[in-house]
Amino acid sequence: MKPISHQARLWALGEIVRRASIDQEFLDDCDCQVTREESILRLPDGKCSIRFRNAIESWDEIARGKLHTSKARWMSEPDGVRRLVPDFIVPYCADRTERPLFERLDSHTVISHYDLPASVLFTLSRAEETISQVRDRHGRFPTVQSTAFHDEFLHRPVVDEYGLALEQAIGSLIPSYPSQRRLLRVKLSHDCDEVGLWPSLRNGGRTERQPSPVASAKMLVPSVRAAIAHATHHHAPLSMCREFSKMAVGRGRSFLQRIRDLAKYSQERGLDSAFYWKGSVFGPYDSGYDPRSLRVASLIAQLEEEGFENGVHPGYETYLQPAVLQQEADLLRQVIGQDQFGGRQHFLRWLPQSWQHWESCGLAYDSSVGYSDRPGFRAGTCIPYRPWLAELDREAHLLEIPLVIMDVALFRACTGYDEAFDSFQQCVERCRLVGGVFTFLCHNEMLASKPGFPAFYAKLLNTLTDTHRFDWRKAGASKARCSPLY
Ligand SMILES: [Zn+2]
Repeated sequence: MKPISHQARLWALGEIVRRASIDQEFLDDCDCQVTREESILRLPDGKCSIRFRNAIESWDEIARGKLHTSKARWMSEPDGVRRLVPDFIVPYCADRTERPLFERLDSHTVISHYDLPASVLFTLSRAEETISQVRDRHGRFPTVQSTAFHDEFLHRPVVDEYGLALEQAIGSLIPSYPSQRRLLRVKLSHDCDEVGLWPSLRNGGRTERQPSPVASAKMLVPSVRAAIAHATHHHAPLSMCREFSKMAVGRGRSFLQRIRDLAKYSQERGLDSAFYWKGSVFGPYDSGYDPRSLRVASLIAQLEEEGFENGVHPGYETYLQPAVLQQEADLLRQVIGQDQFGGRQHFLRWLPQSWQHWESCGLAYDSSVGYSDRPGFRAGTCIPYRPWLAELDREAHLLEIPLVIMDVALFRACTGYDEAFDSFQQCVERCRLVGGVFTFLCHNEMLASKPGFPAFYAKLLNTLTDTHRFDWRKAGASKARCSPLY
């Protein structure tokens, strides 16, 4: 039996506290304590406290399947947020009794009958993904296996919503506490799977070679499909001929051009973009381009110069293979010319162990924690955090910036552009309510191959024009008691 350590509880308590809109100075003066019976947040006045009863003792309790998703009520009528947050969802509870999440005990004390720190610990550390052995054909934890899908709360950042409840609880004890409303921030990102160049990274050496006829044919499939789709949609046979001629000489300008287009879309709306590049060898699911090739390397340098961010998009075979991951991260280090950057796993092939692998490769952040077939909040949050590494029983050094929507997932879950637009808007609205980071992944291939997508993407981005950016470099190091806001 692996007990939940005091450090893990302290970490989880800190994660709840930093989700409340509280002034940083006030937050710094709060103190978190854990005893055998309780997890306690002491407020800076030295008298008031908020206490959670420790009901769950070990990590094994989640594996035994005896924990349930409970609902909890507001402490008092909330101000204008009931439409989106009618109640609170608390996964991994020992019992199903529905009560207010926080209750006033006396003039100095608020208590919670829910073991919220344990619930937050399991949710943010994605404990269920390690316990379950069910995987899809790409070895991923399937959405339908998740508690959030099963209990129908994947569309809610449930952990972030506790911050709203905590604000009420603190306000009931110290009505004049200094609040600091956090604003929505946006992180647009682009996995550059396909750049239209012949595969040149292969097993057994990273040298430029001529592709085999079979490999060449495979590489041409998406490009041909894209050219035909484009020509059909725009009734432009000449354009199709142009695309074919580009492919014939192996230049693949169109995919690289779409990457430039993505940068322009962001730039024109006062937004930021991160481009994640591959360094993987050619394979059934990897295009195998060399990021050091002149065309790619010069585009990376140009984006950098224009103030965009570049990062790594580790290939299919890096999943649970830290040595391969290290190789690809190092290759991108050479090209990007920086030591610190983040990225996202190809195909979202990710498990909690991946955090450890990314950290040991010296990567600054991961943004893979989202599902490939549905938008939503895989870890119950849209606020970046330093995850708890259950196996090592400590906080990770790297940051997780949860992925809320991947373009492909949006179209897997929605029928048509109207429904996709509504789903997008709803996710943004929920991120805005909790002051989180709306992270969206848009592939350059979508711009090249999906009819109508460029106009749709422009419409989405128009709703985000001049929204604040999220800069992971400013996230800073964590503090011992309560993590800072970022
Ligand atoms: Zn990818």
